Amino acid sequence: MIISAHLGCLLLLATGLGLGAAIWALGLYLVRMLATTAIYHRLVTHGSYQAPRLVWWLGSIVAASAGQMGPSWWKSHHQQHHLHVDTAADPHTPLQPVGGWRGFWRSQLGWLLAPSFHPQHLPADVERDPVLRTIDRLHFLPVLALAGLSWQLGGLEWLAAFCLSTTLLFHGVASVNSVAHLVGEQPFCTGDASRNNRWVALVTLGEGWHNLHHGFQGSVRQGFTVENGQVRLLPDPTYRFICLLQACGWASRLRIPSHHALLARAS
Ligand SMILES: [Zn+2]
Ligand SMILES: [Zn+2]
Repeated sequence: MIISAHLGCLLLLATGLGLGAAIWALGLYLVRMLATTAIYHRLVTHGSYQAPRLVWWLGSIVAASAGQMGPSWWKSHHQQHHLHVDTAADPHTPLQPVGGWRGFWRSQLGWLLAPSFHPQHLPADVERDPVLRTIDRLHFLPVLALAGLSWQLGGLEWLAAFCLSTTLLFHGVASVNSVAHLVGEQPFCTGDASRNNRWVALVTLGEGWHNLHHGFQGSVRQGFTVENGQVRLLPDPTYRFICLLQACGWASRLRIPSHHALLARAS
C-alpha cells in the first residue's frame, strides 16, 4: 500500500496539484494523522484515556485508511518498540544493529521490508473485540475505499493528491521512529535515545515530544517539558483533539502526570 502511494505521487507530474486537490490532501492528512495519534497510539496502544467502542472502531477505520495497517499490527509493533527501546530487539530503532544513514533508513522505512513485518504476538485485548479484529485483517479496504472516493470526486488529480497525503503522513509518523530518536532535547531521564523534537511534533500533531512519551507512556498529553526547574506546556494538537472528544462525551478519564512526577524525572 505504502509503496503504491509513493509511486502514485508520480501522477502529480502529469496532473499538477490545483487548490481543491491540495485542500483535499491537507484535510486527509490532518484527519488521518489525528486518528493515528489519538486512536491507534494514545487510546488503543497506551490506554491514556477511555472512550466508547464506537470511537475505537471509527478511529481505527480512519487510521487504517492512512495505510497504517490494522490496530493489532500497530499496537504489537509499538509495544515491542517500548519494551526493547533502542536495542537490537527494537523493530525500528535507528541505532541498532547499525547507526548512521543505514540505521536511519531502517527506522524510516526499511524495517517494513524485514521478515519481522508480521508480528509474532497480537495484543489480546484488541483481538478480543471482533470489530477491531475484522478491521485489522481487512485493513486494506479503507485505503482502497478512500482512493476510490478521491478518484470519484476529482479524477486522477485527486487520486494523486490522496497518494501525496498518504505518503507524507507515512513519513511523518515514521519520523517519530527515526528523527525523534536521533535529534532533539532530552528533558527527562528515560535511559533511551528518545528526544523531544519540535519539527516532528509539528508534522505529527504533537507526537514529536517523544522523550516525554518514553518517560510517561500513559500520559494523554505529550506536550510537556521542564525548563529551569519548571514544568512548561508545549503545543499538542492531538491532546486538544482528545479534549474535544471529552467535551462531546466521547472520551473520559484522561491520564495526566502530576507536576511533581514530571519534575522528579527531569534530567
Ligand atoms: Zn520511541
Ligand atoms: Zn508509544
